[in-house]
Amino acid sequence: MKMIVIAFIWLKSLKIKLFKRRYDKIRQGDLMDLIYNLNINEIEQLMITNNEKKYKAKQIFEWLYQKRVNNFKEMTNLNKKMIEYLDNHYLINILIEESKLISQDGTIKYLFKLSDGNLIETVLMKYDHGYSVCVSSQVGCNMGCLFCASGKLKKVRDLSSAEIVAQVMYLQKELDATQQRVHNVVIMGIGEPFDNYDNVINFIKIINSPFGLALGARHITLSTSGIIEGIKKFSELDLQVNLALSLHSAIDSKRSKIMPINKKDHLELLKPVLLAYQKKTKRRLTFEYILLKGFNDQDVDIVALKSFLKGLNAYINIIPFNDINDKNFISIKRNDCYYFYQKLKDNGINATIRKDFGNDIAAACGQLRAQREVKL
Ligand code: SAH
Ligand code: SF4
Repeated sequence: MKMIVIAFIWLKSLKIKLFKRRYDKIRQGDLMDLIYNLNINEIEQLMITNNEKKYKAKQIFEWLYQKRVNNFKEMTNLNKKMIEYLDNHYLINILIEESKLISQDGTIKYLFKLSDGNLIETVLMKYDHGYSVCVSSQVGCNMGCLFCASGKLKKVRDLSSAEIVAQVMYLQKELDATQQRVHNVVIMGIGEPFDNYDNVINFIKIINSPFGLALGARHITLSTSGIIEGIKKFSELDLQVNLALSLHSAIDSKRSKIMPINKKDHLELLKPVLLAYQKKTKRRLTFEYILLKGFNDQDVDIVALKSFLKGLNAYINIIPFNDINDKNFISIKRNDCYYFYQKLKDNGINATIRKDFGNDIAAACGQLRAQREVKL
């Protein structure tokens, strides 16, 4: 009798241990897949392999992206077996909100914890024409730009498509409370999107799908530090997504000083690739230009910009430098930006000045995570 009781207790504790292990794995996303990883074709394929009708994929997409459910059990037009299957194999929500900072100007910066404990940030900005979400594409960044907080923390890993989709969905679900919509998505948070090419493109396809969030390609902007291979592949896709290139200087020696990528993918190589991109897509290019006092705001910089822009349909988006506590760069006044803007205009160069968002909550690329990582 005693032996039976001991065996019973042992079996029970083993069951608990196994359950805990499975639970931990689920939490870490090992055992379960992330449903936001799948584009419409992949969900169709999933239906076929499960002997379901292909059109069910569209219904699942509608539940996920239009009705925005948090639980498979709410997908009432699926049969019980399929709901159970999805519930056993897939997760929907994967982001844990670590902090949420609200700026005086209404910008909201979210710091999310991923299932492996890594931190990323996502920013919600309100423009006159609607809400814009800035997503991260990697944990950290390997490009090492000197002026950037993200570049100071090396890349830990790429984000999966689901982890990028989840950022948009999290914010959209927050906006649902006041019947508002995400109008624009900019891939300008932590990371270099072309260093995580496949996942980022899959992310774009998912949020662009007419059966899902249906975010128009023209409402999506991808910003790159200028990885030539990425720009070439991106041109071939024939998407109407906007491309922004972080230029910051049209003088090779200066650009190389602040952006290590320029030592390899330098301006002379970049220009023909941009011309080819434009020939293929007919899309206007944005050149981002962080104004760094005393570094790239001189007359020679304007002359170089004029020459680099020749033949391209593009404009310069002047970005006021967001201080990252680096003694190499001096904080810039908005007036300096206006002065530079006027000079560009006088030289026949199209330009805009980026609106400042959430300066009081460290809204520059990667800043919040950087502050947090230093503290930890
Ligand atoms: N890796 C991509 C996208 C993320 S960075 C890229 O470099 O384009 C997004 C934008 O934020 C880039 O234009 C980058 O130059 C800018 N940025 C980075 N650090 C900044 C800072 N301290 N102040 C202002 N803009 C910054
Ligand atoms: Fe990376 Fe972009 Fe920051 Fe450069 S500016 S380090 S490419 S995130």
